[in-house]
Amino acid sequence: MTEQRESGRTIPAPAGGWSSCSLAMGELTTEELAALVSGGNAVALVPLGSTEPHGPHLPLVTDVVLSDEACLRAARSLRDRGLPTAVAPSIAYGVTRYARGFRGAIGLREETLIALLADVGRALLDDGFAHVAFVNNHLEPEHVDAIDRAVQEIRDERGPTCVSFPNQLGKRWGRTLTDEFKQGNCHAGQYETSLVLAAREELVRRELLIDLPPLPISLSAAIRAADGKDLTFAEIGMERAYTGAPAHGSREEGEQSYLRLVEMIVTEVQEHLAEEGEHTARGEIPVLEKT
Ligand SMILES: [Zn+2]
Repeated sequence: MTEQRESGRTIPAPAGGWSSCSLAMGELTTEELAALVSGGNAVALVPLGSTEPHGPHLPLVTDVVLSDEACLRAARSLRDRGLPTAVAPSIAYGVTRYARGFRGAIGLREETLIALLADVGRALLDDGFAHVAFVNNHLEPEHVDAIDRAVQEIRDERGPTCVSFPNQLGKRWGRTLTDEFKQGNCHAGQYETSLVLAAREELVRRELLIDLPPLPISLSAAIRAADGKDLTFAEIGMERAYTGAPAHGSREEGEQSYLRLVEMIVTEVQEHLAEEGEHTARGEIPVLEKT
């Protein structure tokens, strides 16, 4: 990697170039980050989650653990394809209404989350990233809707292809995930327990896990049936803040689910970059002079 100019200064590129830098953006120095984005095609993945109860056996930041792990694996895959990619520091708070009443449900208002995500997205684009992808694993509808609205806000300002939200709740990717996920019994059940086992096994309280009976309650169906009325986990029958079959979780299933999540992220990022290339070639998006 050659030297580059930044604000009139010539700064040395790190030995080995961007490919030798940490995948975690927060671990980079400012000069390493400048090297990573210098080619004009860098990708930032932003892990999103929540701080909320996930049964007696999983930690409050389960959704963040899932997004961090999916982003790190996807970033590795994008780098292998020649795209300079970094995982931004995760956003560990989301809209969490259903979990209220349990300790550890620390929620944001929708407008707070929309403003936060729009600001972070804009700042990453201003920093030289060509594309920002939000990667989420907290599936509460109001939370997902807030992410959609933040993405729309950034697109309205900066163009349609600079930001993406690969969303596993959509048909395209949801059908590739496990049966429990598709049934909507996927809060701290087999699906999420498996993903934590594959990423951070030490965070799973195995001694409690084996005694948790399966609870076939579809959270997504209950939310749909409530039709906008406020609901809580407890009202749905999720007395211990889980649904599904956590005791059936396994590392192997988690590995398979990460393959699917990584495929979703990598495919959508590449599609958006290709689309941006077409717009730029047609002169619809001005190519900024990189200094
Ligand atoms: Zn979760």
